[in-house]
Amino acid sequence: MIKTQGIILSEIRFKESSKILNVYTKKLGKISLMAQGAYKPKSHLLAATQPFANVEFQLRTGRNFYYISGADLINSFYSIRGDLERLAYGFYLLELLEKSTPDEEQNEKLFLLLEKGLGYLSGIDKDYLKFIVAYELKYISFIGYKPHLENCVVCNKKLEGKVKFSTILGGVLGFCCIYNDITAKNINNSVLSSMNKLLYSTFEELASLNINKNILNSIHDIIVDYILNCIERREFKSLSLVKTLIGP
Ligand SMILES: [Zn+2]
Repeated sequence: MIKTQGIILSEIRFKESSKILNVYTKKLGKISLMAQGAYKPKSHLLAATQPFANVEFQLRTGRNFYYISGADLINSFYSIRGDLERLAYGFYLLELLEKSTPDEEQNEKLFLLLEKGLGYLSGIDKDYLKFIVAYELKYISFIGYKPHLENCVVCNKKLEGKVKFSTILGGVLGFCCIYNDITAKNINNSVLSSMNKLLYSTFEELASLNINKNILNSIHDIIVDYILNCIERREFKSLSLVKTLIGP
């Protein structure tokens, strides 16, 4: 029997009344969990098996899945669902973990980041993108791909004049080494300094950080490309949903 906290990332219906859940747990990392009878109308598992739910689980191991022996709901983060754009961004945080982490590899920092991130997101009703970009920068750093933003990523010289961001090299390319990646994208100084601020600010500090929408959009585009490249994926479905909601 294993006791661990976990956050539901996704659910798939299984047979008549069961679900298979993808759960990010504090102790075991990402696991597949069989929730038997969770679709039955009177199931005590109903609330504890919805995406976003933060649950204290007692688990037993099976051949292909973990099974639930006990489940106490800590927080459903239900208020995330009160706004469609916030909900879509919430699903993005879940999808990010689902797509970029291997099964059963513990990373408590990632669990705590998700728990904190969902808590923060459920408490705000504007400036979602500022939070999302700060989250992305922290997330990618926590899985081992912290972008190199201080000096030139190739030669480590101080950055002067024109700079670019290289997805392939994982950081900022100075004019000195501009030909090391011809696909690198131009970024201006305000984009770069905002990136640094967002990477190192706590979520609580975000409220006092003023960054305009164009800069946020530029950073978001650069970082999503960078994340997809790092985790060898082509897209995030939840971000397509955001796009249809708020327009291009
Ligand atoms: Zn250089």
